[in-house]
Amino acid sequence: MSTTCTLGTALITGASSGIGATYADRLAKRGYDLLLVARDQTRLEKIAADLREKTSVKIEVVKADLTLASDVSSLEKRLRDDASITLLVNNAGVALSTPLSEANLGEVDRLIQLNIVALTHLASAGAAAFVARGNGAIVNIASVVPMIPERFNAVYTASKAYVLSLTQSLSAEVGERGVQIQAVMPGATRTEIWERSGIDIAAFPPEMVMDVNEMVDAALSGFDQKEQVTIPSLPNAADWQAFVDARLALGPNLSLQHAAARYKTTGA
Ligand code: NAP
Repeated sequence: MSTTCTLGTALITGASSGIGATYADRLAKRGYDLLLVARDQTRLEKIAADLREKTSVKIEVVKADLTLASDVSSLEKRLRDDASITLLVNNAGVALSTPLSEANLGEVDRLIQLNIVALTHLASAGAAAFVARGNGAIVNIASVVPMIPERFNAVYTASKAYVLSLTQSLSAEVGERGVQIQAVMPGATRTEIWERSGIDIAAFPPEMVMDVNEMVDAALSGFDQKEQVTIPSLPNAADWQAFVDARLALGPNLSLQHAAARYKTTGA
């Protein structure tokens, strides 16, 4: 029996495993049709087949390598042209564990292409389309690491700081025009990303690592509450607000005609 979908289609990048595959499961159960994107078509097809058995939503699989400009630009076009798409989950990402001074710069470039360039292009195309249609939502998967940059890989952390900043600015740009924007900042979550980047997640204290189902359910609860930023493990939302307030308090003094007294010199 087919049902009429009123929620539209969710385009999820990195849907072949981990957080993206879990979003696929939850969004299908909510009644979204799905456009599932990743490189591993076999895994995507299997996820799609399982979800077709459990739900009646329409599911399309798109094999794409988002480090390739041509693949990104096809998806941008799809976002602009396909009016059924109402939700973009910008989730695909990779991590690195090597210090920047010892990094393989090819790997660094691929991380930047995926975590920053592709995410930016898709967010731009999605924002343009959703503003034109007067509704839609973009979920950008960031991380808590920008809060603890001293403790994590430089390039990965910086890429996630970019995602957070982009989300905050994009929300200011389009939030009043019918488009919902959310950054999700997961802490350590049990997925393949750790093994793929050469980090042993088993070495983490178990109390620091969240199950992926719990993480995505919390992120979707934050989405339902229209949060701009969701940190699934943070017990007290006021702690994040205090952080934002401290940042905003700097505002009046960040751009002034004169240097601060402690920097005043004779100019010699
Ligand atoms: P994951 O299981 O490794 O999933 C990563 C997804 O990205 C896979 O579906 C992978 O699919 C896809 N992907 C990788 N390279 C790609 C490429 N070149 N083109 C297209 N798709 C590509 O890891 P995850 O933890 O679910 O990661 C999802 C997001 O959560 C990432 O942005 C990550 O930074 C973020 N995050 C994770 C954690 C954590 O602790 N797990 C914490 C904070 C944030 P294919 O290999 O099939 O292409």
